[in-house]
Amino acid sequence: MVKVDIKYTKLFINNEWVDSVSKKTFPTINPQDESVITHVAEGDKADIDIAVAAAKKAFHRYSEWRTLDASQRGRLLLKIADLIERDYKYISELETLDNGKPVKQAEGEILWSATIFRYYAGKADKILGSTIPADGEVLTLTLKEPVGVCGAILPWNYPIPMIVWKIAPALAAGCTLVIKPAEQTPLTALYVGALIKEAGVPAGVVNIVPGYGPTAGGALTHHPDVDKIAFTGSTEVGRIIMNAAAAVNLKRITLELGGKSALVVFNDADVDKAADIAHRAAFANAGQCCVAATRTYVQSGIYDKFVAKAAEIAKKRSVGNPYDEGTQQGPQIDNDMFTKVMNYIKAGKAEGAKCIAGGDRQGKVGYFVQPTVFADVKDDMKIAREEIFGPVQSILKFETFEEVVDRANDSNYGLGAGVITNDVTTALSFIRHVRAGSVWVNTYEHVTTQTPFGGFKESGIGRELGEEGITQYLEHKTVSFNLPKKPL
Ligand code: NAD
Repeated sequence: MVKVDIKYTKLFINNEWVDSVSKKTFPTINPQDESVITHVAEGDKADIDIAVAAAKKAFHRYSEWRTLDASQRGRLLLKIADLIERDYKYISELETLDNGKPVKQAEGEILWSATIFRYYAGKADKILGSTIPADGEVLTLTLKEPVGVCGAILPWNYPIPMIVWKIAPALAAGCTLVIKPAEQTPLTALYVGALIKEAGVPAGVVNIVPGYGPTAGGALTHHPDVDKIAFTGSTEVGRIIMNAAAAVNLKRITLELGGKSALVVFNDADVDKAADIAHRAAFANAGQCCVAATRTYVQSGIYDKFVAKAAEIAKKRSVGNPYDEGTQQGPQIDNDMFTKVMNYIKAGKAEGAKCIAGGDRQGKVGYFVQPTVFADVKDDMKIAREEIFGPVQSILKFETFEEVVDRANDSNYGLGAGVITNDVTTALSFIRHVRAGSVWVNTYEHVTTQTPFGGFKESGIGRELGEEGITQYLEHKTVSFNLPKKPL
């Protein structure tokens, strides 16, 4: 076990580290051995009120932040990126401690996050309005302005990328933020607070308040001075947030929610390559991935060969100590998720799916689950319909293109989809007919800084990353000057 020094456990408000008003704390657990890592200050409504007031003051029209040149906001983001790169080894070890993901994977996520800050740094002084040839005696232009005070409510599966997907575009746009990290993974989020302060971001611009969902998250969602909530998490909580936003002040919302994504493998695919893509698509991040391809549809001509290969790869997946460089899969995040995943595995067996790899917990301590593959899964089984959020792959057989498109689309979710084929027409037709926010051809889960990410249907509203990512933090103001006898 690696010894990681914990530096920050208090709330980060106004660039200061403070106890919660109630003085309460909560434990954060190491999923590898179920031990308490440390106790963290537990924010609730009183603390959210203070943090929102700080963010509101920092957003005042004459504040240091609002009067900073856009190019200087960009420079601050570049500085944060440099600090993340400086400390990426430490942040990765801390992430692995709190989340359980393999440390090599954490390093990749954290270095990627620095590039996201750089991408949005470049956008800060390129937020452009337009002049419009409007009807009537007017000269008309548009301004894009920051939305205002933004709340960010985060999940635990990718703690650093999720906080950065929200902070980077929000700061580039000129907003201020109150962030509630997931209660399972508050530690790296707090460290990001320290780097933001070190970079020179003015007090109150970014505030971080760990705490529980219904209390701290609920207070943020219901706060009348919060202009927007950016949320990543379950569809169930997404609904609660949308309802609260509607009831209180119609605050803007972006929701990145759950999924039950389908990856479709046609007869002409190379079976070994396809099985490998499908394996990574289902098992990345121990299956705790919103776009995980948990429904693998395989055409009948290659079905048996594919199923054998999928089982073989899953059985070889190395599960264990996330600090070991060769480990591919660490533990599930906590006891609740572990129990939920084990119950889905039981349901798969009970409903008659054929368990061809895994199917049990791994070891006796820690929330480790064996990489599990079910073959002969039917569309109406629980494991084919509900989001499992664990290392469980379901393989389903299909015959025709039309049939598989209908089956892939027969879900309330629409986050990701994949197709593996060498036939261009099949691939293009699939792209046009499948209802999902991201579609990958002969690859999967290729999410990049420059491209929008988000869902159709109950997988969400709005997009993060890319140009669309910053648009979600901007209001559009239309300005018309009276111009009598305007020339045409
Ligand atoms: P969750 O929705 O329970 O929690 C996410 C966040 O919401 C946490 O910070 C939590 O404290 C907060 N929260 C909970 N109840 C709240 C409430 N009443 N008001 C305000 N905030 C509240 O999700 P989870 O169980 O932690 O994560 C797993 C789920 O998240 C899965 O369904 C998964 O698909 C989804 N997810 C989606 C994406 C995506 O990008 N679409 C990414 C990660 C996770």
